[in-house]
Amino acid sequence: MISGVLMKAIRKMRAGAGAEVVEVAVPKPRTHEVLVKVVATSICGTDVHIYNWDPWAAGRIKPPMIFGHEFAGEVVEVGPQVEHIAVGDRISAETHIPCRGCLQCRTGQMHLCRNVKILGVDRDGCFADYVVVPEICCIKNDATLPWAIASLQEPFGNATYAVSASQVAGKSVVIFGDGPIGIFASAVAHAYGATTLIVVGMQPYRLNIMRGFKPDHIIDVTKEDARARIMDITGGGGVDVVLEMSGSPKAIHDGLHVVRRGGTFTAFGIPARPVEIDFAEELIFKGINLIAISGRMMFGTWVEVANLLNSKRIDISPVITHEFPLEKIDAAMELLNAKDIKAGKIILKP
Ligand SMILES: [Zn+2]
Ligand SMILES: [Zn+2]
Repeated sequence: MISGVLMKAIRKMRAGAGAEVVEVAVPKPRTHEVLVKVVATSICGTDVHIYNWDPWAAGRIKPPMIFGHEFAGEVVEVGPQVEHIAVGDRISAETHIPCRGCLQCRTGQMHLCRNVKILGVDRDGCFADYVVVPEICCIKNDATLPWAIASLQEPFGNATYAVSASQVAGKSVVIFGDGPIGIFASAVAHAYGATTLIVVGMQPYRLNIMRGFKPDHIIDVTKEDARARIMDITGGGGVDVVLEMSGSPKAIHDGLHVVRRGGTFTAFGIPARPVEIDFAEELIFKGINLIAISGRMMFGTWVEVANLLNSKRIDISPVITHEFPLEKIDAAMELLNAKDIKAGKIILKP
């Protein structure tokens, strides 16, 4: 039994920017929880917000707290009532912890749980040697899936859910946003049969990673006008599907402009502030099918993700550009905070 021994963890010790590498006791799994030895963990945009202590983080996070939520590891201890997970299992975890009692949880919409708690946001996360997660959130990984790739399934799942819900086969598709989830979405849209795939971004380094997933057109908005170019590519009619994965108000309006009448607009990127939409002109008169994506389907998306990765239909390894030991968190965050960003996904190894 390892609980109680000291472990290394990246902990937000107080309100404010930064984080500290500290030693804390290995947590003990409760009745329905498991203790996991973290093998690989990846840094999410959410972790950057927490590290930088932006207004969202200041309003949500209660230090001291270990953050991080994307990981893969091996189960080393299970709580007394755990039934389906055993010591030695290789797992990743759904980070949205459901209450299992609300209307949504009981009617097939567990991903929209009214009382959701988020790993590494509302409770201690995985930037540590060990993390405790509820059994219900555990996803068993195939033994052939590399640890670093396995740690990316949570954000890759966001992209898979968004693309899957948008039914892109045989359609023209635009993806706005060159962050990791936009990049993943371009890979999934290509695999799922989008016939004209256009990606729009502003970071040359990341657009170059996207290039590897074979989009038909790449638009750098710092160099050209996305609206004009997309209307030109589609012969003036607009695209069938827009996947908005940037959260930029300009991209949202551009997306609503270039989606064709009767087309689909899928919203995933989170704007920093409320965005004003002209409901009549941008949505209603165009008859747009609006889809909002939150999290991943629990647990259909995870099965889809495992199928895509285990079958090697999609190889997401080019998205991983750096790997650091856990304690090098400051160096990793510096890369991700750079104005001219030169990193994709960064893996931390305890
Ligand atoms: Zn994440
Ligand atoms: Zn619930």
